[in-house]
Amino acid sequence: MTQSISGNKIRSDFISFFEEKSHTFVPSSSLVPGGDQTLLFTNAGMVQFKDVFLGTDRRPYSRATNSQKCMRVSGKHNDLDDVGRDNTHHTFFEMLGNWSFGDYYKKEAIAWAWELLTEVWGIDKNQLWATCFKDEKGEIPADEEAFESWKSQPGMRTDHILFFGRKDNFWEMADTGPCGPCSEIHIDRGEEFCDKKNIEGHVCQVNGDCARFLELWNLVFIQYNRTSPKDLSPLPATHVDTGMGFERIVSVLQDVDSNYKTDLLLPLMDVVMMLCGQNEEERENNLTPYRVIADHCRAASFLIADGVVPGNIGRNYICRMIIRRASRFGAKLGLDDPFLAKVAESVIDIYGDAYPELVKNAKTITDSLTREEKKFHSTVEGGLAILESYIENLKASGNTQLNGEKAFDLYATHGLPLEITKDVLRERSLLVDQEGFFEAMEAHRVNSGAGKEFGELGGEDAEFYANIAAGLIEHGDLFPEGVIQDPYGANEVETEIVSIIKDKQEVKILKEGESGEFILKETNFYIESGGQVSDVGQVSSKNYENLFLISDIRKPSSGVVVHVGEVEQGEFHTGSKVKISFDSDRRQDIRRNHTATHLLQYQLREVLGDHVRQAGSLVAPDRLRFDFTHPEAMTREQIKMIEDRVNEKILENSPVSISQKKLDEALAEGATALFGEKYGEDVRTISIGAGNPYSYELCGGTHVSETGEIGVFLITSESSAAAGIRRIEAVTGRKAYSLIKKRFNTIDAISDLLETSANSVEEIVKNILHQKTILEDELRSLREKEAIARYQTEKQNAEVVDDIVLLPLFFEGIPISILRQLADIFRNDFEKGLAIFGSLVEEGKVQFVVTASDSVVKMGVHAGEIAKAIAKEIGGSGGGRPNLAQAGGNDYDKLLKVKLSEYVKKLG
Ligand SMILES: [Zn+2]
Ligand SMILES: [Zn+2]
Repeated sequence: MTQSISGNKIRSDFISFFEEKSHTFVPSSSLVPGGDQTLLFTNAGMVQFKDVFLGTDRRPYSRATNSQKCMRVSGKHNDLDDVGRDNTHHTFFEMLGNWSFGDYYKKEAIAWAWELLTEVWGIDKNQLWATCFKDEKGEIPADEEAFESWKSQPGMRTDHILFFGRKDNFWEMADTGPCGPCSEIHIDRGEEFCDKKNIEGHVCQVNGDCARFLELWNLVFIQYNRTSPKDLSPLPATHVDTGMGFERIVSVLQDVDSNYKTDLLLPLMDVVMMLCGQNEEERENNLTPYRVIADHCRAASFLIADGVVPGNIGRNYICRMIIRRASRFGAKLGLDDPFLAKVAESVIDIYGDAYPELVKNAKTITDSLTREEKKFHSTVEGGLAILESYIENLKASGNTQLNGEKAFDLYATHGLPLEITKDVLRERSLLVDQEGFFEAMEAHRVNSGAGKEFGELGGEDAEFYANIAAGLIEHGDLFPEGVIQDPYGANEVETEIVSIIKDKQEVKILKEGESGEFILKETNFYIESGGQVSDVGQVSSKNYENLFLISDIRKPSSGVVVHVGEVEQGEFHTGSKVKISFDSDRRQDIRRNHTATHLLQYQLREVLGDHVRQAGSLVAPDRLRFDFTHPEAMTREQIKMIEDRVNEKILENSPVSISQKKLDEALAEGATALFGEKYGEDVRTISIGAGNPYSYELCGGTHVSETGEIGVFLITSESSAAAGIRRIEAVTGRKAYSLIKKRFNTIDAISDLLETSANSVEEIVKNILHQKTILEDELRSLREKEAIARYQTEKQNAEVVDDIVLLPLFFEGIPISILRQLADIFRNDFEKGLAIFGSLVEEGKVQFVVTASDSVVKMGVHAGEIAKAIAKEIGGSGGGRPNLAQAGGNDYDKLLKVKLSEYVKKLG
């Protein structure tokens, strides 16, 4: 075993080994699963091939190999609590795999696994063990085929081939669907690796519980389809799906006892060690913070590279939470300033060759990390101090569990993620009520009007439509590849209705007034994707006597396109020849907005910088919306500049060209691709500009042929869409024209009112506003004079009780500043006096001051207490010093009835 083999070499060894066996290398899909709404993160190599096994997707290859980026943060496979506390758990990890889609099977998969491990990597054959499936219930046949294959491998010891039951050696994707036996390869690392030696009765064994035996590789042989808990039927084609945990094989080949000691993670811990100035011994004694930081910083770097920025919900929350957790563990090592960018540089260094997205987004990664650390630092101390007081209360009351609502409040108002609260509590042997936390979060989400993180689970009717399609293909009603889709051609296409579906049943006829779905042999409709909305339109008989209005279109399963709508006129039969056409005016509006979106993205990068990346997009007929990564609000100048520059490009009337390319070629040429989007081998590219195009994107949408068709482009708003993400909304073409028209009309109406021309409106409005200010000032000083005059009159007639002058005086429309002024005058005028000055400031809003002269205060009168008592009476609040207090309320009539004498009488 060579000590010096690097992690990167091990990964490339794996891939080239299978490439030599005619496998196609398929790059890792994004951590954000494309098109799979049910999954938070890609969590297995299987994710991007799931549809192939389900038969709803086809690929141009039947053998594939890959190294998939995976992320697991919760659930049965990984509890975040374990990450950092042991040598093997990670949030982010890589999974190596080789795949056969109806191609080779057990014999080859086993022989190649053996060859790679023992010949290429030189692992001692005596250390290797294999397991095969034998059903403990005796219902499913034992996997003798795998057993025989293992036996025939050169140097394989028969006593190292073991049988295990369903839990260990039978794989199922779900309760129903493809499944089959699996065969695992384990390595015996030698007695010294056992970490359970001191436990009485412990036996080191395959599938045991100590670190001596490690499962290296799982080969899954998919050969059955489960239709019910009892029933398995053989699949027409068999598949192979294998998975080898990358970090684990690297730890074995580099002969270390921890994933964190491999050259994948150790350099990250070295950076941390250097930053906090500890030595190796100190690190060894305090490994948890090091491991947490290395793991979380690596995961966050990959997430940000895939477009996931720190935020409040879903994936964005996970990104935020792991950064904050790493930051807090950094603080435990004395790292009080942002430091994760330094660690991330090392991540990019180690992984950049295999995952170029890290290099491409290096600045975004380091900037986002630092920004999030700063944000956390600015709130964390408050949060931790409050948590500290909760802990004291818990200890004092003998409780061991923190209330979930309190934990949620720590997150919502102090930015302390649940996971960090848990860490802190755990360090004091305390717990948190997690269920209560999520209940509080749910309540908050409902109250704040925020929606569900993810949409409805899709795909439950995929099988229904896949079956219909299979039948239609078998009868020759559909082409073998399913419904032919061409949204780029003519507006009207002649075709045939091959199936009508009503209330989830196939029917022969759909009559006037009835709603249903049509499957047509061909369609020219665009189906919502890449942000562009679906077309609407109609199906008609040849002479237009029968009419079906299409309100929606969807693709429930590969090869099936369903037109949803209602029969407006006449009736339709299966087998009828029909014409389908989309609403072409609406389509043209959409085209304008889509090409404008590309122009906008180009100018955003030009003006704001290369860190701008698409984070969401909507291309509708009436507007476009574009979300992109950018740390701060755009300035007015930037918005104007971008709007101007897009319009310049429109006036240039640049040609828009569309061409089909190989994905590799397009990316090599610098085409902009979307993160989280699943691209096939062949891609469609849109470039704008003659000769050397300035905008070049992978895009399946529909576009104008020259930018001049867009007409005009207006930005209607710029706002925040999420933390670190800005949103621009804009209009083009007809909508922009009508917006301009509307504004013109408004200006015309205003100039009519002002009896001036549109050109002079601004000047005149400025003058009016100026005059308004002057008038308001005059009015204020008049009221002030009037108030003081009234005071001078009223004070003559003031009631006197026990030598104390009592003066209640109320006004309408006098500001509080004047009331305070009167209070000062009053205290000056009377040595012994108590007064209240109130005003109805505006409808339903009352303000008042209470004031008492010093000698009255000495007698025990307290203006603050009096103001408080009166405020309570009139539905408000307030208070103040003994000689001067201020308060408010909403009941003016009640205020008028206040009797100051009551407050003096109480003196006794
Ligand atoms: Zn052991
Ligand atoms: Zn596009």
